[in-house]
Amino acid sequence: MAQLIDVKDKKDILPQYQNTPIGLLLEYQNLNKTFCSYKNPQMLIGMCMDNRKNLWVPDNFAYIIRSGGANLFYHEFQVSYAIGVGGVRHIALIAHDNCEMVQLEDRKDKFIEGMAANAGWEKDTAQMHFENLSPFFEIGNSIDFLVAEARRLRRRYPKVTVAPLYYSAKTSNLSQIETE
Ligand SMILES: [Zn+2]
Repeated sequence: MAQLIDVKDKKDILPQYQNTPIGLLLEYQNLNKTFCSYKNPQMLIGMCMDNRKNLWVPDNFAYIIRSGGANLFYHEFQVSYAIGVGGVRHIALIAHDNCEMVQLEDRKDKFIEGMAANAGWEKDTAQMHFENLSPFFEIGNSIDFLVAEARRLRRRYPKVTVAPLYYSAKTSNLSQIETE
């Protein structure tokens, strides 16, 4: 079972993230840490494209890949680039509340209507588009998906620390997701 661990104080940061860029991210976002200046990227952040999320981090601090549900499966080259060329050794994956990549089927009709009205597509084409692609982007449960995605990335990049985090749109704070 995954458990959320709040960060209200520096000592709440899990030992494995203390004195790492993951810890810094938590301090910037939750504890209003004064910004340091950075010449090089310290980490990679993978987060949902959702407009309700905003991170409070200094310039140059991180690469950020935004993708529905923080699913980086289709962004592997960019992840490898950040590690290989950017030199990052830490990845934060951020899930959030009310993620719309959960139960995509519920928004199928809206998707089709919207593509017809806003993009100028035929409804048949929009329906086919949804049916062909939505299975690749449906995440089921945002936390379970994120934990699995973190495991996948750890296997793929064994020397990189991957931290699963959770963003609350209400508070704009990050929590740590701990798994057994
Ligand atoms: Zn989302």
